[in-house]
Amino acid sequence: MRSIGGVLNGNNLDQVRRGNLSTVLGLVHTNGAPSRAWLTRETGLNRSTIAALVAELVQLGLVVEAGWDQTNQVGRPSPIIRASGKRIAIAVRPELDAIDIGLVALDGTVIRRVHRETERAPTAREAVDIAAAEISELLGDLDASYRPVAIGLVVPGLVRESDGLVSIAPHLGWSDEPVAVMLQEATGLDVYSANDANAGAIAESTFGAGRGVSELIYLNGGASGIGGGIVIGGDLLRGANGFAGELGHTLVNSAGIACHCGSSGCLETEVSRQQLLEALGLSIGDAERLDDVLLAAFAPGATVPSALAELVERQLGFLAIALGNATNLFNPRMIVLGGFLGSLYGAAPGVLDEAIRHHAMAATRDGLVIQRAALGSNILMIGAAELAFADLLGNPA
Ligand SMILES: [Zn+2]
Repeated sequence: MRSIGGVLNGNNLDQVRRGNLSTVLGLVHTNGAPSRAWLTRETGLNRSTIAALVAELVQLGLVVEAGWDQTNQVGRPSPIIRASGKRIAIAVRPELDAIDIGLVALDGTVIRRVHRETERAPTAREAVDIAAAEISELLGDLDASYRPVAIGLVVPGLVRESDGLVSIAPHLGWSDEPVAVMLQEATGLDVYSANDANAGAIAESTFGAGRGVSELIYLNGGASGIGGGIVIGGDLLRGANGFAGELGHTLVNSAGIACHCGSSGCLETEVSRQQLLEALGLSIGDAERLDDVLLAAFAPGATVPSALAELVERQLGFLAIALGNATNLFNPRMIVLGGFLGSLYGAAPGVLDEAIRHHAMAATRDGLVIQRAALGSNILMIGAAELAFADLLGNPA
C-alpha cells in the first residue's frame, strides 16, 4: 500500500512494511529460489531493508535461507531464499467420477496427492465427507512441523465469489450447494473456492506457460466441457458475481447444437472431446491417450484420414471464432490452451493461427502468442493451492 502525502506516521510505516513483506514473499513464492541480491534488484529496495524483510519472513516460518548464490562474480555471495516447504495448502477437486485431494507446499511442491474414485458423480455431501476424511488422514501422516494454511476447492461449475456457493455444476448435478461452508464445518479449516478453469488460469499465469504475463486468456477442454479464465493486469477477471470468463458458452455456430446452458451453438457444444475420441477410435477410458494419438496422426509425413482432418479443421475453426472475439475484447498477450484444446492446437497450429488472423483485428492480435498449457496434471492442484495461499501472500504479517 502506498502512503498518501509526504508525512509517514507509525501506521503508514507499518503499512509500508506489511506491503513490502507481501511483495517479497510473493516474489519468492512465484520465482522458485531467488537470491537476496535478486530480490534487492527486483524490488528496488535497499539491501538492508531486504535483509530485514527476509529475516522477518524467516521468523514467521514462511521462507528459509537455502545456501548461497555463487554466480555473482563481483560482489559477495548472496543467500538463496526459498518459500517454506512446511506451510501447506490443501487442494480439493470433485470430478465426475472421483475426488482429487492434494497437499501443496508454499514452495509449489505437491507433497501428496490422492485420487479417490466414486461409482458415479458424488453429491455435494458425499464429496465433502470423502474430502474431509482424506484430509484428516493426510494431515495425520505429517509431522508437527507442517502447518496447514487453508483449503482451496475447485469445482467444474459456477462458483459465487462472496461465499463459495456452487450455483450450478451441471456435470456433477449440483445446484445451489454451499460446498465451501460444508467443507469448512467438516474440517475446521478456512475454505476458498473457485471455478476450475479460473483456478487453472491463475496457475498457468503464475507458474506455467504464462508466467510473468499479465494479460492472458486461458481456455481448457475436458470431459465436462470447456472452461476459461481471463487474466487482466495480472488479476483474474471476476465479474459482478464472480462468474466471468465463460468462454465455453460464447456463440460460435448460429446453426449449432442445443447447450445445457439454455443457448445453442456454444463453443462447448461445437468443440467436444467426445467427437475427437470417436474420430480417433478411442473410448472415454482412453482419454489420457488422446494427445499422443492425435499428435501421431498429424505427425509430419503421416497421412491424416480425411474425416479426422475435417473434424480437426472444423473444431479449430469454431475455437478461432471464440478466441478471435475474446482477442478483440481483451487484447491478450497470450492465449494458453489446456486439455484437449491444447492437443487440438498441437495437431495443427497453423490452422488455428490462420483462423484467428481472420477473426481478430490486426491491432488486437499484434504480438499475440498462443501456447499449450505447461503444468500438466498438477494444474488444478496448484490452482487450488493458490486460492488457499492468497490471503497469506497478501498479508504475511
Ligand atoms: Zn452453452
